[in-house]
Amino acid sequence: MSNKYILDVHCHTISSGHAYSTVTECAKGASENGIKLIAITDHAPKMPGSCSFLHFWNLKSIPKTLYGVEILSGVELNILDKSGKVDLSEKTLKMLDVIIASLHIPCIKPMSYEENTECLINTMKNPYIKILGHPGDPRYPFDIKKVVLAAKETNTILELNNASLSPENGRYDKPDTLINLLNECKKQNVPIILGSDSHFHTNIGNFKEAEKILEKVNFPEELILNTSIEKFKLFLHRN
Ligand SMILES: [Zn+2]
Ligand SMILES: [Zn+2]
Repeated sequence: MSNKYILDVHCHTISSGHAYSTVTECAKGASENGIKLIAITDHAPKMPGSCSFLHFWNLKSIPKTLYGVEILSGVELNILDKSGKVDLSEKTLKMLDVIIASLHIPCIKPMSYEENTECLINTMKNPYIKILGHPGDPRYPFDIKKVVLAAKETNTILELNNASLSPENGRYDKPDTLINLLNECKKQNVPIILGSDSHFHTNIGNFKEAEKILEKVNFPEELILNTSIEKFKLFLHRN
């Protein structure tokens, strides 16, 4: 794997209910793939089969470092409605390092173009949410210009999700939307983050498909937050 990218903050464990590795295996997998920092971001409770809020309360019991890999606590929240409502309380979110929010078919039905746009913008206004997970799902089309501008104004990081680019994924589409999104980020100088969205530990740090698209749009490396832990943490704590 390329060692240009040293962090992966979108990783699922068995706690998600449809992922197959433990935290220990994830740390091991990360270290074997040259990744120095991961965040454990299991699906929040409204995803069928995922864990309860107690899972997130107790993440503090995981060591800060395993196999030489720094472990951050986190969650992938489900966006539940147009207002940007999510499925963990503020009290729980306060305990976590990396908070991603995403649209998932079991938790929110696709709305109109205008409503999807409004929904994403409202979500980013939540100060706890740091990353918008896999924007560009073809089932939820939105106004790219407006969403990138909102990301800039709210210091929210847009994710380029490697798993979405696999043809087996439900979110898969021609990469046109993602190319347009990246070009708009370039234009507005908005940083992005690569996420493996791994549901098995050997996949942690796998950004192969994402890298192909980055190359296609000649995306500037300084706008990618995976190249430095310091750069990522600085951005994370900007709000
Ligand atoms: Zn999942
Ligand atoms: Zn997701």
